[in-house]
Amino acid sequence: MADLTKKYDVLVAGGGNAALCAAIAAARAGASVLVCEMATKFYRGGNTRHTRNIRCAHDAATDTLSGPYPEEEFFSDLLAVTQGNTDEALARHMIAESKEVLEWLPEQGVRYQPSLGGTLSLGRTNSFFLGGGRSMLNALYLTAESHGVEIEYEAEVVDLDIDSGMFLSATVQQGGARHVVRAATFVAACGGFESNLEWLKQYWGAAADNFLIRGTPNNRGTVLKLLIERGVQEIGDPTQCHAVAIDARAPKYDGGIITRHDSVIFGIVVNRDAQRFYDEGEDIWPKRYAIWGRLVAAQPDQIAYIVFDASVLRMFMPTLYPPIEAPTIRELAGKLTLDPAALDKTIADFNAAVRPGTFDDTILDDCRTEGIAPAKSHWARRIETAPYYAYPVRPGITFTYLATRVNKDARMLMHDGKPAANMFAAGEIMAGNVLGRGYAAGMGMTIGSVFGRIAGREAAKNARN
Ligand SMILES: Cc1cc2nc3c(=O)[nH]c(=O)nc-3n(C[C@H](O)[C@H](O)[C@H](O)COP(=O)(O)OP(=O)(O)OC[C@H]3O[C@@H](n4cnc5c(N)ncnc54)[C@H](O)[C@@H]3O)c2cc1C
Repeated sequence: MADLTKKYDVLVAGGGNAALCAAIAAARAGASVLVCEMATKFYRGGNTRHTRNIRCAHDAATDTLSGPYPEEEFFSDLLAVTQGNTDEALARHMIAESKEVLEWLPEQGVRYQPSLGGTLSLGRTNSFFLGGGRSMLNALYLTAESHGVEIEYEAEVVDLDIDSGMFLSATVQQGGARHVVRAATFVAACGGFESNLEWLKQYWGAAADNFLIRGTPNNRGTVLKLLIERGVQEIGDPTQCHAVAIDARAPKYDGGIITRHDSVIFGIVVNRDAQRFYDEGEDIWPKRYAIWGRLVAAQPDQIAYIVFDASVLRMFMPTLYPPIEAPTIRELAGKLTLDPAALDKTIADFNAAVRPGTFDDTILDDCRTEGIAPAKSHWARRIETAPYYAYPVRPGITFTYLATRVNKDARMLMHDGKPAANMFAAGEIMAGNVLGRGYAAGMGMTIGSVFGRIAGREAAKNARN
């Protein structure tokens, strides 16, 4: 048990990647560090538990990365996905620092492996964690503890005492007890508000009831809200988030990566009325998978169905849930509770619009539709080989982008634009500084590792002064 009556140099709220990177960096810089993680030890690590990879710039191929990924290319990828909605100086700083982070993480015990053949073709840009996010976290926790970081589980930060941008103490709820924990500096690394359905409803209305949360139920935005209320500047659109199409049969929380469907480009997607609503072949999947959560969220009842046939069944990574199968389109519609005549017509119209081409799912091929709206621009092939299949999908929220504003030192900025005296933020809770919208795979971990490391270093420096 940590001594919660003592004053620490650095108090870290959260227990995922951002929190642990901050804790390790602070401890390595000589600070006394307390980590308050709301989850039990078994469930420690929030959304980080579910991750597989991190995107870092690098100048040359490595043992596990197939080629260079220059800073400039990373930045142009970020510009493309955010459509310019980013703080350029901060984003460039993050990308430059990501080069060091690529090497720093293995120094903290994290191991990489080459990317396996899969859905997102990230072997050059993204480093995959050997053993996945949980192994990565276990390594970080071991390293943190070996450097004297004290960790309290089931310890939720429920209140903050902040006076004119100066953190004084946090109220930590643990079991039936409340502790006032003092520290010279505070690092907020406790996620977005994606698990707080009431908060989501303020922007999405009743539709939010149909959202599934891909990760931890703990990221309720408690600390984010407190910080904003206590004078920290907010940045980002509260409706912006990373959301993908996940199986509608997934649990409400923590379904993880195995519920995500990557089969959209191989078929068509219809809504509750058996109507197509977006170009399933607009661009290669790694550039488009993260728009489908929002697209489904905009459909009636927030439900959609990926429909395909036997000819493509083995062409994508299977998920936890088997597809729903039927010998005819009409029978499939019956199983999905869609109007059989409407689905039949949608597929007949689509099939009639398909133009011949050479199918290749690794490039923007010439298999497309003509004279139908919405078009399917690539990988369009007739759906005509029985049996027929469908996956029901709902919006799966990964994380929200509303954030505390920070500067290059990961120091929070107050309403008046002045830097906070002793408060830092890292990870999802400040993601909106660089991610105004959109997403490129692996960036959640870049944001956490880069700004976590900076926050820990700067907090330790601040505590010494
Ligand atoms: C299924 C899935 C797959 C993903 N795959 C990837 C991937 O491969 N690559 C990638 O870059 N990103 C991925 N992401 C996104 C990634 O998980 C996040 O961007 C990243 O983990 C955020 O790290 P974090 O430390 O900020 O938050 P988290 O890892 O979520 O940690 C937040 C922590 O704060 C704790 N907490 C919350 N509130 C409080 C409180 N009041 N007091 C104390 N503790 C609190 C939580 O218990 C949790 O431990 C994925 C997300 C999901 C859900």
